[in-house]
Amino acid sequence: MTILVTGGAGFIGGNFVLDWLAGSDELVVNLDKLSYAGNLQTLASLQGDKRHRFVHGDIADRALLGRLLAEHQPRAVLNFAAESHVDRSIHGPGDFIDTNVVGTFNLLEAVRGYWDDLPAADKSAFRFLHVSTDEVYGTLAAEDAPFAEDHRYQPNSPYSASKAASDHLVRAWHHSYGLPVLTTHCSNNYGPYHFPEKLIPLVILNALAGKPLPIYGDGQQIRDWLYVKDHCAAIRRVLDAGTTGETYNVGGWNEKTNLDVVRTICSLLDELRPRADGKGYAEQISHVQDRPGHDRRYAIDARKLERELGWKPAETFDSGIRKTVQWYLDNQDWVAGVTSGHYRDWLDRQYGGQ
Ligand code: NAD
Repeated sequence: MTILVTGGAGFIGGNFVLDWLAGSDELVVNLDKLSYAGNLQTLASLQGDKRHRFVHGDIADRALLGRLLAEHQPRAVLNFAAESHVDRSIHGPGDFIDTNVVGTFNLLEAVRGYWDDLPAADKSAFRFLHVSTDEVYGTLAAEDAPFAEDHRYQPNSPYSASKAASDHLVRAWHHSYGLPVLTTHCSNNYGPYHFPEKLIPLVILNALAGKPLPIYGDGQQIRDWLYVKDHCAAIRRVLDAGTTGETYNVGGWNEKTNLDVVRTICSLLDELRPRADGKGYAEQISHVQDRPGHDRRYAIDARKLERELGWKPAETFDSGIRKTVQWYLDNQDWVAGVTSGHYRDWLDRQYGGQ
């Protein structure tokens, strides 16, 4: 048996592939364009492992997808591939439309062609799982209930608008063509192998480098944090037991202000790797101008997933953030590879500069 994963060299997709292969002998075909956020070093432990086949390519390349699907006959396709960084989407939205909208459209069309031709038993067992975000729902006021699956879509950034568009395409391919789809909406993830442009790895790495810890505006924006391996477990659960055509919200009931998250990281570093001058890392906190249109609060109501599929996160925020800080302290090689450009050089050698 085989699954096809897209974006499996990224943060969540990479964690998903590693976790999947820790418990399965199925072949994972991993299609990734290796944008700046894709990193094969994350998958270094799989080198030579016959259960993993990496393919360098774009989800918008329908011909390539057609060949991969025909060759490997996967029982499921899981779509993690995306442009994912809100700030980048504000400065350059085009890539977000290309991958998240046009790419998802091409992927759906390739999968539909493959699925249409499957024998009846394989056809009903097949699943297309689309990994999406809570950001499609927009922003919450302090007194609002967390996002449930029936919350209206109200995306505010080019990133969330492009993800919302992709969700609608996935939904339409189910209703119009019968494709057996599942969609998950997860809150903010954190954990190992996170590209250091996002808040948590950025703060850990800047703190260790003696650099300022940038906080947008007053730092009172609230996010609902989930340890990435809990997200991966939720995706496996939805793939196994979810009802096609349904959406599932994934979250850990961990609402935190950005300032609280940064202060927690500073305290952990004070304990695990004290500053040489004896001062606390919180001294490095520096407030910077807020992001335009910055959503104030996200929070996920995960009761449907808990009730219907019996999923529960294994980590609390305290246990997950401690593991994460420790992981960055223990994996400075990975960090150096991502931040130094060495990884890019290696990639150019591997792929002839593609
Ligand atoms: P990421 O940016 O770390 O990884 C994305 C991966 O997709 C990279 O490996 C990149 O090379 C690849 N990719 C980009 N464009 C591609 C294309 N056209 N074809 C093939 N591969 C392509 O992102 P992430 O944080 O791992 O997010 C994965 C998915 O989860 C995204 O769909 C994102 O919207 C969703 N999500 C993320 C979070 C979060 O907190 N990070 C939360 C909820 C949902």
